[in-house]
Amino acid sequence: MTPGPWGYVLFRFAALLGAAILFGTLFGRPFAWLSAFLLAYLGWHLWHLWQLETWLRKKLGEPPRDAAGLWGDVYAKLHRVRLQSRARKKRLARVLKEFRKSTQALPDAGVLLDADHEIAWVNKAAGKLLGLQREDRGQRIENLLRAPEFVEFLRQDDPERVLRTSSPVDPEMRLALQVVPYGETQRLLLARDTTHAYRLESVRRTFVANASHELRSPLTVISGYLDALAEEPDLVEHWREPVQEMARQSERMRRIIEDLLTLSRLEASGAEAERERVDIAGMLASLRKEAVARPERPAVIEVEVESQLGLWGAESEIYSAFANIIGNALKYTAADGSVHIRWRLEGDEPCLTVTDTGVGIPAEAIPRLTERFYRVDKSRDRATGGTGLGLAIVKHVLQRHGAWLEVESELGQGSSFTCRFPAERAWLKD
Ligand code: ADP
Repeated sequence: MTPGPWGYVLFRFAALLGAAILFGTLFGRPFAWLSAFLLAYLGWHLWHLWQLETWLRKKLGEPPRDAAGLWGDVYAKLHRVRLQSRARKKRLARVLKEFRKSTQALPDAGVLLDADHEIAWVNKAAGKLLGLQREDRGQRIENLLRAPEFVEFLRQDDPERVLRTSSPVDPEMRLALQVVPYGETQRLLLARDTTHAYRLESVRRTFVANASHELRSPLTVISGYLDALAEEPDLVEHWREPVQEMARQSERMRRIIEDLLTLSRLEASGAEAERERVDIAGMLASLRKEAVARPERPAVIEVEVESQLGLWGAESEIYSAFANIIGNALKYTAADGSVHIRWRLEGDEPCLTVTDTGVGIPAEAIPRLTERFYRVDKSRDRATGGTGLGLAIVKHVLQRHGAWLEVESELGQGSSFTCRFPAERAWLKD
């Protein structure tokens, strides 16, 4: 078995000590001989160390020095590590170059921000979409993009939140912005050009608004004649039932058109609802009166309100949202059931909860309730005369008030709809 490099080292060292002791015994002064041999040994290692340091300073192309024993081993290992590290560096540089190339080619703008919102890196699209260039690195982004909504948006840390706004470069261009936190304090600002989708959406909105508007007048005429015809005493008897059905259906079409126009108005009227004082207790009292006056209704309709609690909001919108939710509870609850309406502060958030003991909603339908024309059960709905637009209106109204809708329901047991408003919308009467 050949000894390893350490074997040689120990062997040499032992031989050196042996020689020092021999010389000391032969010629006297053993310590002087030992010191001389050890100094020579130290000198030899220092010389190798110097050689190694000189070699390390040289370019990688230089072959490792030929050395025996442990030093040869050190040279060989270091050389291998240096070669591996060069290969890894090259690979990393290639990956980085590819990454840079692909991020530069991205159609979406990307801006890296450090903890102080200073720009660390931008890609090419950031110039086109946000007007930010490579030269802007090191500057605070708020000094370059000064719109208050953008500054407020940057302060939050929710990667899901999307800011839809127009581009600072071109007001016609629409952008969707997102901020993704990463690392300890850094953030990545992403901006996507949504002009095309925005235009399509606005074409759709205008079309629906115009079509609804155009349909309203002819339908009013048809409804009017049908109502008159249904009341006509001379009407041939076998036409009476079809005419009444036609009158009912045209009334339903009229309601759909009214709801579509309401939705268009809500969509067109900007992001946030006005802040007028809305007396919710009074509103719920009149909604209750209307409910009680219905010919077909659940036996129990209870209203529980914190009468001091009002709301800062758009009165007509809030009325239409609450009327829709309460109307649904009344529609989908049998005559022997009950509807409970509660208006109160939960924590510091004003909440309206409408609970019924009606037909309930299957769990898989709950996330889709606020879609336009979505109905859980088409046949059930035809009977109740719903338009399928009520909860879409509710969603829009709540969005404009910074509020959200929570739905809990169990099939056959009943449902509970809660509108939860932000605390700053609470208005406390004195
Ligand atoms: P609609 O005018 O048809 O009632 P909505 O948008 O108001 O339309 O409601 C959507 C669907 O949600 C309804 O078709 C109905 O199936 C279901 N729904 C809404 N409220 C209730 C409720 N309180 N109980 C049971 N189902 C409900």
